[in-house]
Order: sequence, then structure tokens, then C-alpha cells
Amino acid sequence: MKFDLKIIQNLLKIIISQQQEIERLNNIIGKDVQTDLYNRRYYSQLEKNLFLDSSILMIDIDNFKRINDTYGHYVGDEVIQMVASIISKNCRNTDIPIRYGGEEFVLILNGCNIENAYVVADKIRKEIEKSKLIVTNNSVSVTASIGVSFKKSTDSLDNSVQEADMALYESKKNGKNMVTVFQNKKTIIK
Ligand code: GH3
Ligand code: MG
Ligand code: MG
Repeated sequence: MKFDLKIIQNLLKIIISQQQEIERLNNIIGKDVQTDLYNRRYYSQLEKNLFLDSSILMIDIDNFKRINDTYGHYVGDEVIQMVASIISKNCRNTDIPIRYGGEEFVLILNGCNIENAYVVADKIRKEIEKSKLIVTNNSVSVTASIGVSFKKSTDSLDNSVQEADMALYESKKNGKNMVTVFQNKKTIIK
């Protein structure tokens, strides 16, 4: 049987460009369009790719419903984007920032111990507290509560996120705009 080299080359080109397109679409599907952070769908695929010990931050904007009620949904969206960009700015390229829900974010700090994770969390908290969104004549500012947990490489991601969520709940319960760490099976306010 004779092969036409040109046809084979063209077929290969089509296969390669299709593969690139699939990767491009996968990237889009894994990203939240509003914030450019990873989305919940990406999160659900993540477990099998986490090989290092890591720290988990769960970040939730305080009293966000009030922002929507006072300034409208559009301003609410802008506030979410502002917080997302503060989170991104504080990431190394091995970290994974995820929009976990409406005004809730998960940040996975790969290879980061709990002490350093607390430092990162408190830096993010302070930057959110300081930032302002100028809307016509108003300056809108928000705070966020954060929970931190540690995930050994072999621990379940969902379990570690749940522990960060318990710590977040403590931050909310104790007055918001604070960081709480889940350590030795209990929550600790630093
Ligand atoms: P807490 O301090 O306890 O977290 O109170 P909260 O008001 O932030 O929390 P709650 O869960 O009561 O309200 C969250 C609100 O976020 C409700 C929902 O309408 C709003 N929300 C969720 N996603 C979006 C979004 O993409 N854009 C806007 N503008 N609002 C959103
Ligand atoms: Mg909230
Ligand atoms: Mg929430």
C-alpha cells in the first residue's frame, strides 16, 4: 500500500490543532469567567493532581448580602472581582485560587505549612479590609472572614476544605474580619 506523505502530514496537523483546541476549551471550562479564578468544576477534578502537603484557605466576604441590597447586584459583582484580584495577587504560580461559590473562595497553597498559610491569610484579610471600590459618589469597602486548614498529601481534599470551613465558621461567630486556624482537631483564633 502506498502512503501519500502530504495527506498524512495534513491529517497530523488537523489532529494537533484539534488537540490544542480541546486544551483551550478545557482551560476555559475550568475558569470562572467573572473572576478568572478556577471554578467549582475544576475543583472537582483536582484531588488526583495534588501530590504535595498543602494548606487550604476558605475565604468568605462578610455581610455581602448587604452590599447587594444597598448598592445593587452589579456593584456586588464588582466587589467579588475586587476580592478575587486581591486573592490572585497574593498567589504564587503553584497556588490554586478557586471561586468555590458566590462570594466564597478556596485557595490551595501547595507545599505551604500552616504557619505560613496563616501569614498569607492575614495579609489577604488586611488587603481586603483596606481596598475600596469607587462607585459614583460612594466608596464601597468590605471585609472577609477566613478559615485555614492543613492537608497532608494523602488527606481527602473535601475533608480538608470542610475543616477550613469549620475554622471560617468560627471567624464568623467571633465577629468576622478575622482568620481562624483548624489545627489538632480544633479551631484556634490567632
Ligand atoms: P456572612 O457575613 O455571614 O457571610 O453574610 P453574607 O451576607 O455574606 O452571606 P449570605 O450567604 O447571607 O449572602 C450571600 C449573598 O451573596 C447572597 C447571594 O445573593 C449573593 N451572591 C452570590 N453570588 C453572587 C454573585 O455572583 N453576584 C452578586 N452580586 N451576588 C451574589
Ligand atoms: Mg458571606
Ligand atoms: Mg457565603
